[in-house]
Amino acid sequence: MTKKVCIVGAGPSGVAACTMMRRYKINVLLFEHREIGGILNNAWRVENFPTLDPVPGTVICQKLKDHLGMYDVPVIEERVIRIRRDMIITDKAEYSAEYTVVATGTKPKRLANLEAGPRVVYEYRDIPFDAEALAVYGAGDMALDGAVRACTEGKKVYMFSRGERVSAVDALRRAASDSGVRFCQAEPVRRVEELATGLKIITSQGSYEVDALLICIGREPALPEIDSDRYEIIGDARGDRFRQASIAVGEGIRSAMRIASEWW
Ligand SMILES: Cc1cc2nc3c(=O)[nH]c(=O)nc-3n(C[C@H](O)[C@H](O)[C@H](O)COP(=O)(O)OP(=O)(O)OC[C@H]3O[C@@H](n4cnc5c(N)ncnc54)[C@H](O)[C@@H]3O)c2cc1C
Repeated sequence: MTKKVCIVGAGPSGVAACTMMRRYKINVLLFEHREIGGILNNAWRVENFPTLDPVPGTVICQKLKDHLGMYDVPVIEERVIRIRRDMIITDKAEYSAEYTVVATGTKPKRLANLEAGPRVVYEYRDIPFDAEALAVYGAGDMALDGAVRACTEGKKVYMFSRGERVSAVDALRRAASDSGVRFCQAEPVRRVEELATGLKIITSQGSYEVDALLICIGREPALPEIDSDRYEIIGDARGDRFRQASIAVGEGIRSAMRIASEWW
């Protein structure tokens, strides 16, 4: 093990890249500032990961963790701020690197005018544990997935969207209508007020009191500052419109194989 590759991000793409590189005896360092498994930790139910029965996202994330353990991958729990040609700079230290794989995924598109306190969140895992009534703002897969998950956990859920259309896969739409999500389509959220114990959501048509608001109106690549010509970007961080865990895993494997073939 001589050469060293730094992998930034321990979502499905980064974990796949890391473990495959270990199979080639490449020396790796994995950086993760939050949680192994990445945004898949939010998923209510993953039904399209080949060979696995439908499971919550957290189950796959645990498998990814186990996989890292199997290959003895060192995980550095720090946020990468900057990637230089031969160095990774985090919020705590600097590390040498001969090559870097950027697997940092995406960050939410924000609605700063609605961020009326810590009960307004962009990921399911950030919803306060005591929330019983939830508003979801968005009309895509992630919004619907969150709404269904909340209903299955016994929460009362309102789903607001700007337009009439919900653009999510059929299975999710069916699950949403079966689980009792209250759809408020073509009802944009205008304002959010923080109350003593919750939030007041003011829409184009009325107002609602809830315990938390989950905003899912889209995501964009979450890239650190890069000043290097020895790196590549994999997984959701590439900014492709097709974003799935199995695609991310495939990109991680391909990246590892390409690096190994060039170094040997
Ligand atoms: C609610 C929901 C449901 C989903 N359902 C499905 C599904 O059913 N089937 C499916 O195939 N896919 C599903 N997905 C999509 C899937 O989760 C993503 O496509 C996949 O996780 C992308 O993997 P990734 O490794 O590219 O990025 P991510 O999973 O986003 O991982 C990136 C990681 O990098 C870390 N990171 C970012 N920046 C830094 C930094 N500067 N320093 C250190 N670490 C950093 C992040 O903390 C994160 O852990 C779902 C996603 C969501 C949100």
